[in-house]
Amino acid sequence: MAATYKTEGIILRRWDYREKDRMVRLFTRDYGKLTMRAISAKKATAKLAGHIEPFLYTDLFIANSKTIDIIAGSNTITAHARLRQSLLHNTLASFFVEVVDRFTEEREPDPELFDFVHDFLSWLNDTDQPNALSAYAAILQLFGLLGYHIELFMCHQCHQPIRAALENESSRFSFKMWNVECASCRTEDEAATLSDEAIKVLRYMLSERYHGAARLQLSRVEWEEVDQFVRALLRYHANTDLKSETVLLSILASLASN
Ligand SMILES: [Zn+2]
Repeated sequence: MAATYKTEGIILRRWDYREKDRMVRLFTRDYGKLTMRAISAKKATAKLAGHIEPFLYTDLFIANSKTIDIIAGSNTITAHARLRQSLLHNTLASFFVEVVDRFTEEREPDPELFDFVHDFLSWLNDTDQPNALSAYAAILQLFGLLGYHIELFMCHQCHQPIRAALENESSRFSFKMWNVECASCRTEDEAATLSDEAIKVLRYMLSERYHGAARLQLSRVEWEEVDQFVRALLRYHANTDLKSETVLLSILASLASN
C-alpha cells in the first residue's frame, strides 16, 4: 500500500488520545469504517481541529503507519452544522451513527451503505422538525443494507401471512429470526409482542423509509410500542445497551412533556 491514501468519509465520533492527540472513527466510501489518529488535534488552533468534528463529510488524506494510520489532512465537504448545534438533531444523529459504528466492521468497504449513511445525515441536517421515527426508520433500512431482512408479513414457522389478531392474541416478532410469528406458532425465541397497529406502522416505516416516517403522526400508545420494539431489536443484536440511548430517551421524554 502507498505511504498515503485519500478517501471521502464521515466522522462518526472522536475521543481524546494521550495528551494532545485525538482518535477519530470514520466511515469512508472506499475503505469502510476506519479508526485513525489525529496528531495534536486537541489544540483548538490545530489545522485539523475544525475538520474532524462528528458528522462532518470530509475529504481525507491519510498516512500509513505501522500501528494506527494518521490523518494527514481533512477538508470539510459538508459541515452538517445543525447536527452538532441543535439538541434534537444531535441526539438523533448520535444514536444513528452509534448504530452504524456498532454494526459495521473495519475495512469492509460498502459504497451503497456509505451513500445511505451520508444521505440520511444530510437529510436530517436539512430537516427542520425531525422525529425519532425517521431515525428509527433509517436504522431499519440500515439493517436491510447490512443483509438483515426484517419480515413483517409472513410467519417464519408456518409461512402463512400474519392475519389480524384473534381474541387479543398478538403476533410476536422473533429477534433472532428478524421475523414475525403468529400466535399459534410461538417459539422460545426472545421476542416482542406486536399489535396489528404496530405492525402496520413498522411496515410503513420499511416501505416509505425515513422520508415517509418523518410524516407519521402516532398515538402515544402506538409510539411507545414502536419505540420499545426498535430499541429492543437493537439491544438484542448489539448485545449491549447503546451509549447514546440514555440521552435519546431523556430528550424524547422532555419533548413529550412540553
Ligand atoms: Zn405461524
